[in-house]
Amino acid sequence: MSPTITGFDVKDIRFPTHLTGVGTDAMNQDCDYSAAYIALHTSDPALSGYGMTFTIGRGTETVCLAIEQLATRLIGKDTETMFADMGETWTFLMSDSQLRWIGPEKGVIHLATAAVDNALWDMYARTRKKPLWKLVSDFTPEEFVKSTAFRYITDAITPEEALEMLRAKEAGKKEREALVREIGYPAYITSAGWLLYGDDQVARLTKEAIGKGFNHFKMKVGADLEADIRRAKLIRSIVDDPANLAPGKVIDPKSIEGKNAGPTGSVLMMDANQVWDVQESIDNTILLAPTKPWFIEEPTAPDDILGHAAIRKALKPYGVGVATGEHAHNRMIFKQLLQADAIDVCQIDSCRLAGVTEILGVLLMAAKFGVIVCPHAGGVGLCEHALHLSLIDYMCVSGSMERNVLEYATHLHEHFVAPVTLNNNGRYNVPNDPEQGYSTHMKDSAFEEFGFPNGTYWKSAAEGKSNDISL
Ligand SMILES: [Mg+2]
Repeated sequence: MSPTITGFDVKDIRFPTHLTGVGTDAMNQDCDYSAAYIALHTSDPALSGYGMTFTIGRGTETVCLAIEQLATRLIGKDTETMFADMGETWTFLMSDSQLRWIGPEKGVIHLATAAVDNALWDMYARTRKKPLWKLVSDFTPEEFVKSTAFRYITDAITPEEALEMLRAKEAGKKEREALVREIGYPAYITSAGWLLYGDDQVARLTKEAIGKGFNHFKMKVGADLEADIRRAKLIRSIVDDPANLAPGKVIDPKSIEGKNAGPTGSVLMMDANQVWDVQESIDNTILLAPTKPWFIEEPTAPDDILGHAAIRKALKPYGVGVATGEHAHNRMIFKQLLQADAIDVCQIDSCRLAGVTEILGVLLMAAKFGVIVCPHAGGVGLCEHALHLSLIDYMCVSGSMERNVLEYATHLHEHFVAPVTLNNNGRYNVPNDPEQGYSTHMKDSAFEEFGFPNGTYWKSAAEGKSNDISL
């Protein structure tokens, strides 16, 4: 008899990143990187699953309430029965009609579903003593398809087509695994170009990033076009200068193909975080084009599929692509972005889409439409999740990591039991701990300090605030 779900703890945790400018962009200038977190417990005291969804402060308590509603539905469920058909388990999670009403498949309820589905996958991987990417990579094509959410996307990809694609990638899996273990998974850095960082800080962090082996750099744009152009030129002047090249750094020309790379092989990306209208996106990006960005990310509203398509078409003559996805709230948005030829780069988010089950469907669609997947990972815990997803894409779905780059942000990894690490060449090391599941487990010490509102940090902050008021 396998363990059954017996209970859960839901926690609100917030890191005061607004104090440092970390995470700032044209839309979000006071974010506190946060998570709505769940530990799912079973009748086996040694078996729990950990999941989270990423938030940026106020409102996290609302997501926690939704997680409690969803997790309650799992009490008494047999774990092995759920693991045997994760597609069906996901459908069950989505099928409470009263909870569905407050979505459907979007907003708070979908974020909450992500946390619960992530916790189940984490638990599943732990029971098999494999990190999540390895669990899924070892699936047969049939098991993979059974674990995928296909509802509403069969006009773009059918389970039969998916099976064929997955079978075609079975050959070479061993070689791919050996290669990625040896050289790591490619990454890009966002942390040098947060919007509220001053020019000196941007210059210093860009140089540091080059020293760590990065050759893909992302900067935030969209608040002040003149400042954007100035900062883009500043970053270009550093990354294009051969004198700043890391010694021994070799860049495979195929890895920068079609990316507007500079003379040293450096790639610049720009992220506008949804601030512009469609025509503004086109006009402003054309003004930024001489600094040679690979793509403009989230130029406009994340739901505006045809708007993204229009922007992409208009920017094509300028050699600038379009990327989006971190706020694409379900697989149907990705389906339409792909069907409308609206994106060059597919930026799935491990916590915006409702967990691994929904993401597998998006990975399959992106591969079918020939669009590379470069997950969004700027936030607490997102790098930890996204690395598993990129590895699944590489091992089973696209079969390639040549042009892909996975976002890397430097902050808050120390709060995870199994944090991501990078090698000296600016690439992610492959997770290898049989006990690490989906890498979603946060340390108790993190909650003691930053749990909201009763962690030591927030208690003392509240005391400081009340003192101010009394003055
Ligand atoms: Mg972004």
